[in-house]
Amino acid sequence: MQSLDQPVLRDIVLVGGGHSHVGVLRRFGMHPVPGVRLTVICRDTDTPYSGMLPGYIAGHYSYDEVHIDLARLAQFAGARFVRDEALGLDRDAGKVLCRNRPPLPYDTLSINIGSTPQMSDVPGATEYAVPVKPINGFNERWQRLLGRVRKHAGATRIAVVGGGAGGVELTLAMQYRLRNELRVLGRNPDELRFHLLTGSATILPTHNACVRRAFERVLAARGVELHCNAEVNRVSAGHLQTAGGETVDADEIVWVTRAGGAPWLRGTGLALDADGCIQVTDTLQTVTDPKVFAAGDIASMVNYPLEKAGVFAVRQGPPLAENLRRAVEGRALKPYHPQRRWLALISTGDRYAVASRGALGFQGAWVWRWKDWIDRRFMRKFSQFPSMETGPAKTAPSSVQLNQEEAAQAISAIAMRCGGCGAKVGATVLSRALGALAPVDRDDVLIGLHAPDDAAVVRVPPGKAMVHTVDFFRAFIDDPYTFGKVAANHALGDIFAMGAEAQSATAIVTVPPGLEAKVEDLLLQMMSGAIEVLNDAHCALVGGHTGEGRELALGFAVNGLIDDDMASVLRKGGMRPGEVLILTKPIGTGTLFAAHARLEARGRWIDAALASMCQSNRLGAQCLRAHGASACTDLTGFGLLGHLVEMTRPSGVDAEIDLAALPILEGAEETVAAGILSSLQPANVRLRRALRNQQEAVGHPRYPLIFDPQTAGGLLASIPQEKAEDCLRALRALGYRQAAVIGRVLPQGEALEPIVLRLR
Ligand SMILES: Cc1cc2nc3c(=O)[nH]c(=O)nc-3n(C[C@H](O)[C@H](O)[C@H](O)COP(=O)(O)OP(=O)(O)OC[C@H]3O[C@@H](n4cnc5c(N)ncnc54)[C@H](O)[C@@H]3O)c2cc1C
Repeated sequence: MQSLDQPVLRDIVLVGGGHSHVGVLRRFGMHPVPGVRLTVICRDTDTPYSGMLPGYIAGHYSYDEVHIDLARLAQFAGARFVRDEALGLDRDAGKVLCRNRPPLPYDTLSINIGSTPQMSDVPGATEYAVPVKPINGFNERWQRLLGRVRKHAGATRIAVVGGGAGGVELTLAMQYRLRNELRVLGRNPDELRFHLLTGSATILPTHNACVRRAFERVLAARGVELHCNAEVNRVSAGHLQTAGGETVDADEIVWVTRAGGAPWLRGTGLALDADGCIQVTDTLQTVTDPKVFAAGDIASMVNYPLEKAGVFAVRQGPPLAENLRRAVEGRALKPYHPQRRWLALISTGDRYAVASRGALGFQGAWVWRWKDWIDRRFMRKFSQFPSMETGPAKTAPSSVQLNQEEAAQAISAIAMRCGGCGAKVGATVLSRALGALAPVDRDDVLIGLHAPDDAAVVRVPPGKAMVHTVDFFRAFIDDPYTFGKVAANHALGDIFAMGAEAQSATAIVTVPPGLEAKVEDLLLQMMSGAIEVLNDAHCALVGGHTGEGRELALGFAVNGLIDDDMASVLRKGGMRPGEVLILTKPIGTGTLFAAHARLEARGRWIDAALASMCQSNRLGAQCLRAHGASACTDLTGFGLLGHLVEMTRPSGVDAEIDLAALPILEGAEETVAAGILSSLQPANVRLRRALRNQQEAVGHPRYPLIFDPQTAGGLLASIPQEKAEDCLRALRALGYRQAAVIGRVLPQGEALEPIVLRLR
């Protein structure tokens, strides 16, 4: 999280989480440049490491062993992780255009997005073949293929198109794995038939004759039918046709031929090579724009034509990191000269590998063990990080090159640290940022942001009463857009839990001071996320206040409307014995984000938690009300137990929670078991005195989760038992996939403690 220790002076944006960028992130994590903020935009949180993919396909590695957790890596590097897809560049404005959020500005940009298959020139290939690239999504495609082969009765013919290292390695890895799969199913592995087709006269044309022969022998021994000089020029359902007129029948076709650049690059104005890859100089800067760099498969070094292989992308990481650093510091860049010869360790799927370097070639099971050792050591660099405390002080003077105006703004931002907080953000910055927003229009908003005044004026329609609520909290993630969404959703939760409709909101914002352009963008990103959520709830943003402070924070005062006869109000009291308790969303955000801050959470756990936090309670509340909910509340800081006690007390009832039935976010049980708890947990645990069987329950693995504070949590409601099943079905259809009955309402007993935990 950015703080006042050092304002952001320059933004380096990394598009794609490829092999070069993971190296850049690690290097910046080890040696940060004060004042430089890194942002990585990637459509995946888990990015595959190509060197271990054949081993994964063969079944030697697990999913997690071959994927780098970009979210954790970014957290270590102090970088913002933006899970999104870049769709274009506005190079004049210096912005990356993204699929799901406002454009992200950059001062220096680097592109490492890998390559995409060029299948469209072969009729039928797109429809009937499974492309190996892009590397993201490969796992899904592979799992589907695996499923089909398992189900396919009788002989299965698999054709791999492409005789380079990727095609050969993949054929052998798939064959090894699929034969094992059939054996496990009690079937004959010889039902599998493999064909390998290449347009060249030989396989592995970029390797020496000794390596080629070694693989020709392995392929022959393993019964793979090799088709050389067999350029595939047409694919149809179950068939391949080659330029020489040969036809190969195949149930599965896997495409591992030359790949090119993503189509969106054509609109960037960057010079591309014949395959659509970005042309770069020896400094890895694009030949067109010195602010834009590229590396890995997507880069085409004009002076060094390289193979599209992960090994080159990895090697480009260190020089890329060095040149990005030099670029923001205004220093001369260093040219990178790739090695003429490199070592390739190509596996045969069965824990055996062949080494190839220039004219040299050797092989053995020991080569595979050596490769395995190298690959695992590489992966450890991205999963085991040195202690964060050992990094250089964030307060070190920045070496970033600034112009005069920027330098003056930076000095005043740093001075704010001593001068105290709470100053208002400059009017120009604010009006520019807010001017770009489009809050929803409502007839009952008489004076709002469309005609700003000292205060907003909204009408309460006849027959309606007003519902007020306010929430405010510090940013717990580095992505301001997503934080804006969560903050707005959290604030709206109280309105929906009351059974009300949201009408208008005012925002209270704290931003760390910095260069005007950076503050403006921060506001824009955060408020764009918030506006999306408010607009979706038909809630008009009518005003707000923005001040400077140590940390980014956002809150909303929200007004809602409800029928003034109070008939539709959903209160915390009102639960009736015999009813069941329904929870609409899973719990666990407190422990997960505590773990995230300590680099102990997997990125995909955080993705799922954020998705849950961004899911509105609006439809859930309507559904609960329609199914006769007698009481309702939204889960926030006091955790499940705290909020349930707030309901049982005014209702004059007791309740039972079934721990086994609790919907829990993925990872939360692991982080709780590791003793990682939110800083709010101890205050919530005081409420254990409300538990009748606390002593008995304390050792249960899910016990800590009933105290876990929630951000933008789900709704907890009491529903007549006979309506529960329908209600759950309806909630799930509305997208609350983990909604569950988590307990029941009991008549008030003699015991002082109102809550019983059911343990099994
Ligand atoms: C099954 C398989 C096995 C392979 N085996 C080997 C091997 O053993 N050795 C070897 O050297 N090479 C191997 N390769 C080739 C290797 O995977 C590629 O050469 C290498 O991955 C290229 O690395 P990269 O850094 O350029 O990009 P990638 O590794 O492709 O990473 C690109 C990243 O950018 C993301 N991205 C893409 N577009 C966007 C966008 N628009 N916005 C945001 N994010 C985006 C992707 O999701 C991905 O995370 C293999 C490939 C496959 C598929």
